[in-house]
Amino acid sequence: MTRRFDAIILGAGQAGTPLAGRLSEAGMTVALVERRLLGGTCVNTGCKPTKTWVASAYAAHMARRAADFGVTINGEIGIDFAKVRARADQIAADSRASLRRWIDTMANCTLFFGHARFESPQRVRVGDDLLEAERIFLNVGGRALVPDMPGVADVPFLTNSTILKLDAVPRHLVVVGGSYIGLEFGQMFRRFGAEVTIVEKGPKLIGREDPEISDAVRDILEREGIVVRTEAECIRFERAGEEVRIGVDCQEGSPDVLGSHVLLAVGRQPNTDDLGLAAAGVETDERGYVKVDDRLSTSVPGVWALGDCNGRGAFTHTAYNDFEIVADNLLDGADRKVTDRIPAYALYIDPPLGRVGMGEVEAKKAGHAIQVGHRPMTRVGRAVEKDETLGFMKLVTDADTGRILGGAILGTSGDEAIHGVLDLMVKDGTASDLAHAVHIHPTVSELLPTIAGERKPA
Ligand SMILES: Cc1cc2nc3c(=O)[nH]c(=O)nc-3n(C[C@H](O)[C@H](O)[C@H](O)COP(=O)(O)OP(=O)(O)OC[C@H]3O[C@@H](n4cnc5c(N)ncnc54)[C@H](O)[C@@H]3O)c2cc1C
Repeated sequence: MTRRFDAIILGAGQAGTPLAGRLSEAGMTVALVERRLLGGTCVNTGCKPTKTWVASAYAAHMARRAADFGVTINGEIGIDFAKVRARADQIAADSRASLRRWIDTMANCTLFFGHARFESPQRVRVGDDLLEAERIFLNVGGRALVPDMPGVADVPFLTNSTILKLDAVPRHLVVVGGSYIGLEFGQMFRRFGAEVTIVEKGPKLIGREDPEISDAVRDILEREGIVVRTEAECIRFERAGEEVRIGVDCQEGSPDVLGSHVLLAVGRQPNTDDLGLAAAGVETDERGYVKVDDRLSTSVPGVWALGDCNGRGAFTHTAYNDFEIVADNLLDGADRKVTDRIPAYALYIDPPLGRVGMGEVEAKKAGHAIQVGHRPMTRVGRAVEKDETLGFMKLVTDADTGRILGGAILGTSGDEAIHGVLDLMVKDGTASDLAHAVHIHPTVSELLPTIAGERKPA
C-alpha cells in the first residue's frame, strides 16, 4: 500500500526525532522510520551509556583515592559490574521511553519500525509499506567500522555496541584504536580492574590534536597502568586458546599482546550501504558518506542528509545542529549553513579534554601568526583544591587581530569550562574581550581571562 506524507524521515537519531517534531508542529504529515531503537547511537550505544560507565569508573577511582582527601573507607573497593551495566541500561531505556512519549504527542507524525530503503527519489519501502513524499530526510547515522586487518575474521571481537553487553570485566582488554572512543573505554575498564593495552597504528594517540595534548593524554593513561603501544604498523589477530593474540609489530617492546578481549575502535562507517541510495540517485563519497552542500541538501532535490551520515560532523551536538539548520531554512526562511559551525567536542577520559576551534598546529598550517596563552592545571586553584591537577589549558589567538582561533582545556571540568571560549568565538571575540571578563572564583574558567592576557608568540 502506498502512503503519502509531506515528509519522510529515515532514522530516529539525534536529528530525526526533533525534525519530526518541528515539521509536525508546522502542520506537515510526517513518517518517521526507525529500524532499531529510538534515539540511535547516542542514546543506546554511544554518549549516554558510555558517559554513565565513565561516571561509575570515576567513582571507583575516587574511592581508591579516598585517603588522599582524608576519607577513610574500611574494606575493599570492588566493582559490581552488573550494577554498573544496569545503571547505564536504565538511563538508556528511560531516554527511549521519553522519546516515545514525545513522538506520541506529535499530532501529524506516524512512527514506522522497520528498515527503510529507497525505491525512487520520492519513494521509500518499509516492509509492506511504500511511503511517498516530496521531502525526504536521511538521519541514518553510522556504526563501528570493522577494519580489514589480517585475522580479524578468525577471532571474537567487541565493538562499542557489543562491549556494553559484557557480563564481567575482562582480564585483559586490548583496545585497537587510540582515538576518542578507544581511550574512553580503555580508561574506564582499567578503573573497573582490567589490564588494558591500547594499540595505535599512528605515532601518537588522538593524532589530530596538538602533540602536547596527545603526549599529556598518554601520560594520564599510563599513570593508571594502561599500556600504550603506538606505531603498531601491522596489526593482526590470531586465536590463542580462549584468548586472542594481537600482533603489534611496534618498534620496541614485545611484538605481540595476549588479550582476553579485543575492542575494535578504529572509526565509524555510515549506514548508507543498505539504503538503496542508487535507486534515488543520491550520491555518496568514496567512504559512503552522503554528499551534501552547505545547507545539507543532497545531490537529489528534495532529499537532505543530517547527522553522522553526511560526514560533516560526528557528534550528537553536530547532528542536532544539522536539524536546526534544515528546519530553520525550510520553515523560517533562514539561511543557516553548516560551515558557520565552530568545531567543538570533548574527550571523556578523566580529566576530560574540551576542545574548540583550531589547535596550534592547525592554526599555523592555516597561515596564521599566532599567540598562545598556556597554564598547567597545577596552577589552577580549583584543580589544586580538588587534587586533580593533571593537564593544562591553552588558548590560541591570531597575533595580528587578537581573534580567538581555538582553545583546549585538558583538565578537571575542561569539558564544561571550554564553553567560555566557544561562546566568545561565536561572536568573533578577541583575546582582549576574554581578558576583560570577570569570571567566578574558584573555577577552572576563571583562568581563561588570565591566559588571554598572558599570551606569547608561538
Ligand atoms: C561509543 C561512542 C561514544 C560517543 N560519545 C559521544 C559523546 O560523548 N558526545 C557526542 O556528541 N557524541 C558522541 N558519540 C557520537 C554520537 O553518538 C553520534 O554522533 C550521534 O549519535 C549521531 O547521531 P545521528 O542522528 O546522526 O545518528 P544515530 O544516532 O546513529 O541515529 C541513526 C538512526 O538511524 C537508524 N537507521 C539506520 N539505517 C536505517 C534504515 N535504513 N532504516 C531505518 N532506520 C535506520 C539507526 O537504527 C539509528 O537509530 C559517541 C559515539 C560512540 C559510538
